[in-house]
Amino acid sequence: MRILKFGGSSVGTPERVRGVAEIIQRRYQELEGDALVVVSAFQGVTDELCALPALAARGADYASRLVALGRRHLAAVGELLPPDARAPALDSVRATLAEVGALLGEACDAGVVAPALADAVMSAGERLSAQIVAASLRAAGLPALYLDTRPLVLTNDHFGAAHVQIAATYQRIQAWRAALVGDHLGGAPLAVATGFIAATADGRTTTLGRGGSDYTAALFGAALDAEEIEIWTDVDGVMSADPRAVPDAFTLPVLTYAEAMELAHFGAKVIFPPTMRPAMAKAIPLRVKNTFNPDGPGTRIAATRPPLDRPITGLTSISDITLLRLEGSGMIGIPGVAQRLFAALACQRISVILVTQASSEHSICLALDPRATAEAVEAIEAEFVEEMSAGEVDPVIIQPDCSIIAVVGEAMRQRPGIAGAIFAALGQRGVNVIAIAQGSSELNISQVIAREDEARALNAIHDAFFTAHRPEVNIFLAGAGLVGAALLRQIAELAPVGNAEGPRVRLRGLITTSRMLLAADGADLSPTSWRDDLASQGQPTDLDAFTGRVLATRLPNVTLVDCTASGALPARYAGLLRAGVSVVTPNKRGPAGSLALAAEHRQLAQRSGARYLYETTVGAALPVIGALRDLLVTGDVVERVEGVLSGTLSYLFNSFDGSQPFSALVRDAQRRGYTEPDPRDDLGGVDVARKLLILARELGLPLELRDVRSEPLLTEDCLRASGVEAFYEALARDDARYEAQRAEAASAGRVLRYIARLEAGAASVGLRAVGLDSPFARLSGADNMIVFTTRRYYERPLVIQGPGAGAEVTAAGVLTDILRVAQSPLLARPHTLK
Ligand code: ADP
Ligand code: ASP
Ligand code: MG
Repeated sequence: MRILKFGGSSVGTPERVRGVAEIIQRRYQELEGDALVVVSAFQGVTDELCALPALAARGADYASRLVALGRRHLAAVGELLPPDARAPALDSVRATLAEVGALLGEACDAGVVAPALADAVMSAGERLSAQIVAASLRAAGLPALYLDTRPLVLTNDHFGAAHVQIAATYQRIQAWRAALVGDHLGGAPLAVATGFIAATADGRTTTLGRGGSDYTAALFGAALDAEEIEIWTDVDGVMSADPRAVPDAFTLPVLTYAEAMELAHFGAKVIFPPTMRPAMAKAIPLRVKNTFNPDGPGTRIAATRPPLDRPITGLTSISDITLLRLEGSGMIGIPGVAQRLFAALACQRISVILVTQASSEHSICLALDPRATAEAVEAIEAEFVEEMSAGEVDPVIIQPDCSIIAVVGEAMRQRPGIAGAIFAALGQRGVNVIAIAQGSSELNISQVIAREDEARALNAIHDAFFTAHRPEVNIFLAGAGLVGAALLRQIAELAPVGNAEGPRVRLRGLITTSRMLLAADGADLSPTSWRDDLASQGQPTDLDAFTGRVLATRLPNVTLVDCTASGALPARYAGLLRAGVSVVTPNKRGPAGSLALAAEHRQLAQRSGARYLYETTVGAALPVIGALRDLLVTGDVVERVEGVLSGTLSYLFNSFDGSQPFSALVRDAQRRGYTEPDPRDDLGGVDVARKLLILARELGLPLELRDVRSEPLLTEDCLRASGVEAFYEALARDDARYEAQRAEAASAGRVLRYIARLEAGAASVGLRAVGLDSPFARLSGADNMIVFTTRRYYERPLVIQGPGAGAEVTAAGVLTDILRVAQSPLLARPHTLK
């Protein structure tokens, strides 16, 4: 015996009923008739029937909606049955509708909706659909028989979600089946049974709770010792998450009963939670299958399953809950507080979805259906009225608009690190966890979060545990100038060998000063054809739309890469970092901007778990900031930081040997492309001061740019000269002074270098004469050099030297930071947990 249950989603339209009929015919043959069908109401019908009594009781117009509902069923009969078979079906449909009409009339007269009446009205949905499906199977030549399950499924009178009396129900089903088989010795007809509906011992109609048709199927399966219970729905099975919220969700091939129950309890609507109980008691497997893809394997739910290659099986959520918190000093160490709290709620039949209590016993936090909030608060405050008036217990604190995310899996037991990985995934996407609960069964870790974070949270956890084993960094690039373009080239060529196991860099958006291009959902932009794509598919630049998309992107490691030199993007870093978006940049405007802004950015990143990486702002790809941080975290004490931080100034003074005047040297450097178009941009020293400021702040010094003492290299005349030629003329007038400085240094065995220095909390930049034993004396070409003198590197300081500018090396440094985002200290782990 097999039970085949078809949900409302499978019988939404006559077209779909036809599809279901084909599946039933095929299964009927394969099973040689040993089957029983259970159906739900047509899609949406129960919702409608649920709404009508209240309308009627309010005196509002329900009749037109009832007529529409009637038409829908009558039309289905017309479409599904041949003319000569229609009359009896139309009659029985009309009779059921008339019954509903009479009940609604009663509600209208009474002005209130009795729960028993609501159930009687709702029961019509399944009766109508089962009659129509049975008739259309008969029309297709199958010996189908309509079965109203009310006389068989016996419940108490808890209308709306009645409790089934299992033993009596099984007896009745078995007796019915025996009689049916006895009456049809040549082979019993195929029963098409109503799901969801039942009756009390005295024959009043009840229902089993919304979604309860699955449960009816399990009851019949268990009573008749079925080999399997097939739940046919509109998705390929139970999925790793609700596919409507998590686009990457995939079908789970196998689940244990306990896992399915846990997922179902916490919101996975695909199967009604009590369904597992009868199946589990008789060890009957359930199979969830898709009517739109009947040949797919579906999901098998059974007592055990083969091990998975990951610790969690699936995740789910309850979208709308309210948190209530009871706290107060009078609760500490007093036995019975929890018992009184729950008893007060139980008296009002309020079900508690989740509970947490800190071990201080100072507060207990409960999650409830929001509709029960007022009643629950009233019940609790009545119970603790004395303690509250004595100030020992505070008034109940209500936190509405929350969601619960539940992560479920039997393999989480005894496995460390899962909760950490979940929180890391949430933290990285900026989701705050309000409360958590994990029972000692370790089957479910639940976290309460703000409702607005629900989709982000589900996707973050799903990405962390289920998506491609290779982590991804999803970048939005601002600026496609020299560095940006070099970066795109390097991404396109990202070493297939060196980075084979490493993170995949995916370009999701690109913005330049004039145009921008955003990838379609789930797609990437090409790092090779971006120039053409920007021209052909791009749109005019709109920074709000661009950052809006960055914030809305539900992917792991979303990162803004700011390769601009403007202040427009740094002004938006805060909003991005706060939301968990990482920022990687060679743009000094952020980290060397105002102290308040720079500090805020660092704090926001720390708080949300996003990365804020700007290694390339000092010395391009040279590992300067990283080295400094490593020194600090390992407890070294930095006494002094000195550096030649400008390639241009490095070149000028490394080459200044007296063989030509200083001004000629600058001209020559400009010809070779070593300077900005206006060399004063390099010689002015502001850029070097910004870099030093960034290093100072890494050391925790609260400095602003104006605090960096700068000894100007150029005279006022040079700075004020209008135009580059006039500048050179002014500079030539100083040649003698520069030469004198050089010669004086040389005679003392020294050379001139333009050095940035941090010492004893003070920062300065300027021209210095250094001895030949100084590392700076050995500098050549346009190299940068940074020298750290620390308690550990004291006699011989730590020296970092190399090219500190240029598009290729800067882009390489930016790429290194991008890859680092995927190694976030917080989030790196989930990927390795698989
Ligand atoms: P039926 O009408 O067949 O009973 P339901 O609407 O009750 O179908 O349940 C199927 C729906 O459950 C799916 O369309 C899907 O959106 C939703 N759903 C929620 N969580 C999950 C999950 N983990 N796996 C599959 N579907 C889920
Ligand atoms: N028709 C009922 C409902 O919509 C039962 C079910 O579909 O399982 O809740
Ligand atoms: Mg359902």
